[in-house]
Amino acid sequence: HLYNILQELRGNIRVFCRIRPIFKFEAKSCIEYIGNDGSLMVFDPCKSQNTRKIFQFNKVFGPATTQGEVYKETQSLIRSVMDGYNVCIFAYGQTGAGKTYTMCGSSNGSYIISYFDLLINYSSTLEIMNCSGNGGLSIPNASIRGVQSTADVLNLMILGEKNRAFSSTAMNHRSSRSHSVLTIHVHGKDISGNTIRSCLHLVDLAGSERVDKSEVTGDQLKEAQHINKSLSCLGDVITALAQKNSHIPYRNSKLTQLLQNSLGGNAKMLMFIHPESDSHGETISTLKFAQRAS
Ligand code: ADP
Ligand code: MG
Repeated sequence: HLYNILQELRGNIRVFCRIRPIFKFEAKSCIEYIGNDGSLMVFDPCKSQNTRKIFQFNKVFGPATTQGEVYKETQSLIRSVMDGYNVCIFAYGQTGAGKTYTMCGSSNGSYIISYFDLLINYSSTLEIMNCSGNGGLSIPNASIRGVQSTADVLNLMILGEKNRAFSSTAMNHRSSRSHSVLTIHVHGKDISGNTIRSCLHLVDLAGSERVDKSEVTGDQLKEAQHINKSLSCLGDVITALAQKNSHIPYRNSKLTQLLQNSLGGNAKMLMFIHPESDSHGETISTLKFAQRAS
């Protein structure tokens, strides 16, 4: 059913699933089968009765998939930014499932990406404003830098990563409790002299794990609830787009407001879903998030 809905969106939204290799200390994987057709079968290893569930995606990348192979599948989408399309690529899944790895590559010290932090500073500075004229949104306190080369971009990404807020939770000492959004603005002219203005958003979402599991209190609990709310707002927007509703609830979160121009319309979206093969409950809720588009 999800597949039909995605087809109906005429290729403007695609959902890929990526399963990272299982670590030595982890229990047996709950993912039973990966089909070449983008299907995935999950079961609950703790239950004896048949708990098999099948999920359908545009593509599933198994544990042996390299960064290069994943990039190959996204290359044409990224190129379309140069043709004037706005493109949004998301990484969704619980902490540790491989989101940052997919967006930035291996963690060999250059563990990088983006950005302005929409959550850690939510009480103070990062106000989203309507810009007059072009109907877009802006964040006056976020800095935009001109770049000349790939190295310039990478240096900014490293700086952004240094500034990214981390807080430790019971689940993961370096659990990143923020969304990070790297936006690359493209201004130029095509061969016939027409102006091109487009952007590429690379969105490394905050961990989708449920609050109770993180065993956090106080400010950290507030933060976790905020994260869960913004993820569910994103889900609502995607669902509304998939169902072609007349009202798309962009205004319910800063994340969707910020990305508004790149969600829906002509924009192209790609969602990388990262199920945690070690954790059946979280895997099911992650996969269900993807299925909310149905
Ligand atoms: P997240 O950003 O979702 O919290 P990470 O990207 O930090 O998760 O991944 C958690 C750990 O798993 C990291 O040590 C990372 O290097 C490793 N990892 C994730 N995906 C892969 C992969 N496809 N291949 C090898 N290692 C991976
Ligand atoms: Mg991460």
